[in-house]
Amino acid sequence: MPILLTEADVRACLTMADLIPLMRETLGRFSNGECVQPVRQSLRIRPVGGFYGVMPAHVPGAGGGAGGRGGAFGLKSVSFFPSNEGTDLPTHLAQILLLDPATGALEAVLDGRLITEMRTAAASAVSVDLLARPEASRLALLGSGVQALSHLEAVGLVRELSHVRVWSRTPNHALRFLRHHGHLVSCPISTVPNVQDAVEHADIIVTVTSASEPILEGAWIAPGTHLCVVGSSSPKKREVDAETVARARVWVDSRDAARVEAGDLLLAIGEGRVAEDHIVGELGDVVLGRSGRRSPEEITLFKSLGIGVEDIATARLVVDRATRMAIGREIPL
Ligand code: NDP
Repeated sequence: MPILLTEADVRACLTMADLIPLMRETLGRFSNGECVQPVRQSLRIRPVGGFYGVMPAHVPGAGGGAGGRGGAFGLKSVSFFPSNEGTDLPTHLAQILLLDPATGALEAVLDGRLITEMRTAAASAVSVDLLARPEASRLALLGSGVQALSHLEAVGLVRELSHVRVWSRTPNHALRFLRHHGHLVSCPISTVPNVQDAVEHADIIVTVTSASEPILEGAWIAPGTHLCVVGSSSPKKREVDAETVARARVWVDSRDAARVEAGDLLLAIGEGRVAEDHIVGELGDVVLGRSGRRSPEEITLFKSLGIGVEDIATARLVVDRATRMAIGREIPL
């Protein structure tokens, strides 16, 4: 019988420390052509300006699988309603259906909100681990929402942080972030009044805002910096300007998705600042040793869009753990 896993159940089964190696393995499998995953189908929901996405994926061989048959197969349904900001509901909500790859039968229905929060930061951490300079320690967080928090944890697991600077559009939100989460890091953490102050002494920059226009200018970025550009998954929206893209060597999570969704790159291409071949490869290619940082001076940039294989492989891990730990409620359909 299928099981139902709530957000609390998912939390009990998942740690960031487990997720980073799982995302590394999954992104490698993806770039090795082992997975099946169409580009996300997205709908605009009017009149409130919400977005809804459908993300099916199959990751053969991942996880234990029902009856030991292996593989992760299923679908994430995700909604992004910016109008939820300031209400009791998060701006991002998601549900995952995990299916048995041997029979197609439903194995589990999971809350997908926390998985989205955590797998995104875990994938960014893989990029930091593989592309940032080994001694990179000063983190700039642009944004102070859900993703800012998960990235603070995830980046701290792959680099020893010496300083964190947080900028947010609403200064009080940056202060609130420090008040609630500052204790999670052992290094100094401070808010800064503008993006330039946050980034000019950073080794690692994480952009996790819902901005539509660039908040980050390439001129402010120091040589040798690594960027995780996470906030936009829409062809018309971007957080970083064309100069940032032009100065950096760029990797994406999925080339196919980037051609459709990566506004940060597509708008820079449209402005004639870079060509499509400016994209060096996928993060999974770095996992597979096909490309990587070439010198301490170069600026590296991971453009994250968020792809279904990340969600489905994570859901597989959660369901396998929940089954072992007898967590979850059976749901007769
Ligand atoms: P939250 O709603 O929790 O936080 C949104 C953040 O964006 C806040 O810090 C807010 O700043 C900031 N912000 C909103 N509008 C603007 C603007 N116009 N200019 C500058 N900053 C702005 O969202 P999440 O943390 O969950 O997500 C952050 C972004 O990451 C979203 O765009 C989301 O779609 C994207 N995302 C990407 C994923 C991926 O896989 N690549 C996965 C999940 C999310 P303030 O509160 O100070 O006003």
